[in-house]
Amino acid sequence: MRFTEAERIKNLPPYLFARIEQVIAQKKEEGVDIISLGIGDPDMPTPEHIIKEAEKQIYVPENHQYPSSVGMLSYRKAVADFYTKRFGVELDPKKEVVSLIGSKEGIAHISWCYLNPGDVVLVPDPGYPVYSGGAILAGAVPYYMPLTKENGFLPDLNSIPEDIAKKAKMMFINYPNNPTGAIADENFYKEVIEFAKKYEILVCHDNAYSEVSYDGYLPLSFLQIPGAKEVGIEFSSVSKAYNMTGWRIGWIAGNESVVEALGRFKSNIDSGQFQAVQYAAMAGLNGPQDIIAANNEIYRERRDVVIDGLNAMGWNLEKPKATFYIWAPVPKGFTSASFAEYVIEKAGVVVTAGNGYGDQGEGYFRVSITIPKERIVEALERMKKYIGKVEF
Ligand code: PLP
Repeated sequence: MRFTEAERIKNLPPYLFARIEQVIAQKKEEGVDIISLGIGDPDMPTPEHIIKEAEKQIYVPENHQYPSSVGMLSYRKAVADFYTKRFGVELDPKKEVVSLIGSKEGIAHISWCYLNPGDVVLVPDPGYPVYSGGAILAGAVPYYMPLTKENGFLPDLNSIPEDIAKKAKMMFINYPNNPTGAIADENFYKEVIEFAKKYEILVCHDNAYSEVSYDGYLPLSFLQIPGAKEVGIEFSSVSKAYNMTGWRIGWIAGNESVVEALGRFKSNIDSGQFQAVQYAAMAGLNGPQDIIAANNEIYRERRDVVIDGLNAMGWNLEKPKATFYIWAPVPKGFTSASFAEYVIEKAGVVVTAGNGYGDQGEGYFRVSITIPKERIVEALERMKKYIGKVEF
């Protein structure tokens, strides 16, 4: 029997990486040794002290019961303490922090809390697909803010038409940025806050990559900018900082009423995250932070291999200061899709076609450096051998 899908999911494309995984599986079946620079997922293990804490907590019977859907107070306090230590931001753990089952979960659900069918939401293009996915599921209409190289991959708020700005209820921003690797400074966030106040727009800043940075650069929290809490919130998680993507735990922090609304929404949908996992995240947030610098040194080396390798083939790329992504234009004569296909066919290397992140991503591809350096070296060698010099 074939059931009729609800309108809201009929037009929902499969999640971007579902397609990539299919291609990889198919090539592997054909016996190709695929090197995937596709998905951004830390390959280094979760630190020992975090695993040990989880192991200990798994044996505690009270952790086997339903957790609170907003998170244990001790977890929310660990997030607040992390914000104080790392960003100098004061948060009330009881009112200004709620746990999430990964930041993806909160990003998808926030639209349900603030967008009615037909409402406009400002979404970066290219951007993490969950911003528009969640909004579309809620019946809202994304207005895509182009992120262009000329503007440092920041949205140009002045170019948003007045009628759209007036209609917009919410805006997603994300720096350090996936997929472009761009960063934002204090002035940009100040502009965002001014814009949000003028048009009464809720700002949702996604800070998933705040701990992945290089060359002495330390990303900001949106919440450290004066006035941010009045207009918005920040999503983040332990996923990237402590190699914990599989553990599924994150947070929303900031504006009290928004944090409460998402907590209320979630209390009707999920029952929070396993407490042993919350304890593990606390061990990460409260524990030694040297793992972050160690990770970043590994990523930096890999980043340099990719940038130097591509530049030797004819690209002219700058080294990104944050994230584990390299965003590069496709050579002359290619589209994003045809180049991604060409690279996999010729070199057995997976890169992500930029148009998967939105129309403005057309003409670009993304390389992720979350595999061992030797494999990245090999990927670049193969590209050099089978693709050779490129032109733009
Ligand atoms: N935000 C961005 C920009 C991401 O790239 C990702 C994951 O790749 C996430 C959020 C979600 O991370 P998590 O749900 O693991 O916190």
